[in-house]
Amino acid sequence: MNFNIITIFPDFIDSFKQTGFIKRAIEKNLISVNSINLRSFSTDKHNRVDDRPYGGGPGMILQYEPIRKSLLSLDLQKKNNKVIYLSPQGKTLTQKKLNSFLILDNITLLCGRYEGIDQRVIDDFIDEEISVGDYVVSGGEIPSMLLVEGICRLIPGAIDDQESIKEESFQNNFLDYPHFTRPEVINNKKVPEVLLKGNHLEISMWRRKEALGATWLKRPELLKNVKLSKEDDKLLNDYISEFKKGKA
Ligand code: SAM
Repeated sequence: MNFNIITIFPDFIDSFKQTGFIKRAIEKNLISVNSINLRSFSTDKHNRVDDRPYGGGPGMILQYEPIRKSLLSLDLQKKNNKVIYLSPQGKTLTQKKLNSFLILDNITLLCGRYEGIDQRVIDDFIDEEISVGDYVVSGGEIPSMLLVEGICRLIPGAIDDQESIKEESFQNNFLDYPHFTRPEVINNKKVPEVLLKGNHLEISMWRRKEALGATWLKRPELLKNVKLSKEDDKLLNDYISEFKKGKA
């Protein structure tokens, strides 16, 4: 999958490309990340790409023309391409959404800055607006990297242990179970006995119960629209009664 990231801060994206599993995914040719400097499409002698808002008010707006030219410079006639504007006004990014992007060959991400971009860019070129949450940051670069990272780790071969993805939070409507590593005892808190005995069936039942319990405890709304199997229902009820006993 190829990602084009249009930004006034390409260095930001270039350092992201040099780091961790994204770097390895690029080396393995699983993804490519193309950072595009919006300023190189400026028609202004000082390479400006922003101007004041019509109607007055604070801040600056990224202009239509450099963005149009940057998009035209890409081969977006390819099938399976999506042009996304990272925006606090978009649909909130979810794990389900990340999974849905896996069928695409090419994703073009437009990073806003200042007060945002000229509305006519959104009208003419944007397939989808995506938000990373109900809050505002200063630019679309971090939201873009977040999206690239979230998609990339779902691509087979991108992370070392692909199996782990299946049990990750949100992948199946539930949160992940708790994890422990050495040492066995910290401040008198011992690793749960079941994890030390090597009985794989018992371990997977315990993990399932803990995943259901963590979801019930921390994000109960995730369970609302899920029809639990009989086994899961029992595991969750066991968790709830143990939890209540612990609190009593
Ligand atoms: N004036 C805009 C508003 O209130 O809707 C906010 C502009 S923000 C300061 C500048 C840029 O940061 C936006 O154009 C967008 O690309 C990016 N941005 C800010 N918050 C974001 C969020 N929650 N999700 C995705 N992108 C965001």
